[in-house]
Amino acid sequence: MYEGSIPWAYYAPSMRSVVLSSGDEPPRVTDVRLDPPKAGEVRVRVRAAGVCHSDLHVRKLEWDVPLPLVMGHEGSGVVTEVGAGVTSLSEGDHVILSWEPACGRCRACLAGRPSQCEVCAGVVWPKGVLYDGTTRFRIGDRPAHHYIGVSSFSEETVVPETGAIRVGTNVPLDAAALMGCCVPTGVGAVLWTARMPPGSTAVVIGCGAVGLCAVQGAVLGTASRIVAVDLLSHKLDAAKTFGATDVVDASAVDAVAAVREITGGGADFVFDCIGLVSTAEQSIAMLSLGGTAVIVGLAPTGAMARFEPRALAEAEQRIVGSNYGSVRPALDFPFLVDLYRSGRLKVDELITTRRPLEEVEQAFDDMIAGRVVRTVLDPSL
Ligand SMILES: [Zn+2]
Ligand SMILES: [Zn+2]
Repeated sequence: MYEGSIPWAYYAPSMRSVVLSSGDEPPRVTDVRLDPPKAGEVRVRVRAAGVCHSDLHVRKLEWDVPLPLVMGHEGSGVVTEVGAGVTSLSEGDHVILSWEPACGRCRACLAGRPSQCEVCAGVVWPKGVLYDGTTRFRIGDRPAHHYIGVSSFSEETVVPETGAIRVGTNVPLDAAALMGCCVPTGVGAVLWTARMPPGSTAVVIGCGAVGLCAVQGAVLGTASRIVAVDLLSHKLDAAKTFGATDVVDASAVDAVAAVREITGGGADFVFDCIGLVSTAEQSIAMLSLGGTAVIVGLAPTGAMARFEPRALAEAEQRIVGSNYGSVRPALDFPFLVDLYRSGRLKVDELITTRRPLEEVEQAFDDMIAGRVVRTVLDPSL
């Protein structure tokens, strides 16, 4: 490609990326230049990228994100170059991208809670940069931002070494992509955030990809009843195939009353995988004495929910937030892969359709209409 006025020293090969430039226009596939990985970083050729509901929040600018932005945070690929000092990865490795490229040194990381890493929460996520405060993406001579350290809607990306977890070459890369967000978010909410005891009653509100993974988490955690709640009957049918023992069609009945009846007075655990104010409030209203509401889905910035403090205190109920299923990627991704490889975790079944990067808007339309569980973008199409 002709380089125009860009000095040769700034030359970097260009590639196609889905770039969001403003809230007024749709994201566009754009020629973006990718600088080589710096120390502690790796370059990855993206092979599959899942379109997650969080990407829709970003697309609608319901969250604060730096623009322009190379979108996408669920993905997998092949390492094509490693920066100085990288020891855990080599060229040719297949990897799951993680949006929790934990620093390993802050208080949260040292305490074994990388989903609360202070460098991710303070620098990588809000500023759209890598650890050194800069970006590897450029449009012309202007920097473009990373999305939570991943930017998977792109032919290639550069991520911190801790943001790429090696996976065997015997794992399909589209399934591997989903193990970078919806699988740990849903399964982990049950197993790691809630640490649900066997025999508990569990309710999952919302049967998209994260919700179906929470249903599977409840199966793995040996819940006595697993009640799936959704507005769409085909999603409830899917929930049954993923292990739900009961379903509640919230378009037809009062979901809170139905759950209280099925569970004999309220559920031990309710997982809100939608992230609306109304579903957060319903989650609390569905609880048994001593029950725990786990907020998994993410509401728009500033949205506020209500609960009755006295009732919560008297019933000794808890409201818990779950970020990324409290996953520790380096430890837990291989475990999730083992579950998948041994047939105990359905991942392929979550993928409804595959599209090229250029069709990202159609993927969002399908998501809004409830036509898909997961669309996977394939940059090679
Ligand atoms: Zn996601
Ligand atoms: Zn950290």
